Amino acid sequence: MALSDQQNHDQPLKIIEIAEEEKDGKTVHELKLNEENLKKIMLHPDVANNAVMIVAIAGALRKGKSFLLDFFIKYLEAQMSANWLGDDDEIKGFQWRNGTAIVTYGIQIWSKPFIFENKDGKKVAVLLMDTQGIFDCRSTKQDGANIFTLSCLISSVQIYNLMHQLQADDLENLEFFTEFVKTVKRCSDITADGRSRIMLLIRDWGCPEEFSYGDEGGSRYVDMQLEIEENQPEQQKKIRRTLKEGVLDLTGYLLPYPGKAVATEKLYRCLVKDVDKDFLHFVKILVSNIFSKKNMATKQMNGADVRGKEMVDYIEKFVSVLND
Ligand code: GDP
Ligand code: MG
Repeated sequence: MALSDQQNHDQPLKIIEIAEEEKDGKTVHELKLNEENLKKIMLHPDVANNAVMIVAIAGALRKGKSFLLDFFIKYLEAQMSANWLGDDDEIKGFQWRNGTAIVTYGIQIWSKPFIFENKDGKKVAVLLMDTQGIFDCRSTKQDGANIFTLSCLISSVQIYNLMHQLQADDLENLEFFTEFVKTVKRCSDITADGRSRIMLLIRDWGCPEEFSYGDEGGSRYVDMQLEIEENQPEQQKKIRRTLKEGVLDLTGYLLPYPGKAVATEKLYRCLVKDVDKDFLHFVKILVSNIFSKKNMATKQMNGADVRGKEMVDYIEKFVSVLND
């Protein structure tokens, strides 16, 4: 098969959706696992016996998650080479433009694994995951928590995609998820898991004079939001304490507005040259940061690397705990 045919063939595969079931006359929501797709990804010859690193992006609908993932795909397709983004490249991939229909509701993984060596010379299978249903009108708070929790449990980097700024309820939600992750780990006999990062990614950041775009301004902004102050209500202090203790590495990243062409969806096709230069600049720094050898962290559970074939069992177990 020619490479371009192969690339056209790559697609997001749904592994989890929220199913509505009738139980005792009541409608309940459950996570529904698509075993076939999960196995297609995790038992792929390049994934089954290699340590896995999942980079996940989660957040509400229509906030540019899939759009950003397309840049990740391009960067990884180009084997992280310096000239990975051309002016005339089209941005597609995770189907980021699709009218008002919900494109992702649940969890999808890009069908193609990307194989790299980490700093110890070990082969790592990098997978990209797109997650949605967190506080969209169709989902309940529990659905959102289930999806986010599963995503946190299996990913090495969890990007929480937010628009404009970090709000009080974003922190509240994060605290809720963090507690939930702890419970699921306890119920699944996970006594230790590997480094896992949460990155709060703020889109259309509007105050670059105060907190500059990128990771330095972003982390300073997040640290400031997490500061515990004397005069804060007790509840606010508790949220911040839980997050500081519960999340190993909570960082921030601030992205500029991508420009009218992207935000207003006027264009039928979006080419790289239609996107604001500033946005592209900070996306380039973001990808080189996330996929750097230093940050290429494989998922570890109970002291061992999780390989693709073991990931299947872990995911099955987490889903059954979450549905209980
Ligand atoms: P998702 O539902 O979060 O995956 O969002 P999509 O990636 O499908 O993007 C939804 C729409 O938001 C796209 O059609 C773009 O027009 C627009 N978009 C993408 N990225 C950004 C961004 O950083 N800022 C703004 N304002 N719009 C964006
Ligand atoms: Mg999407």
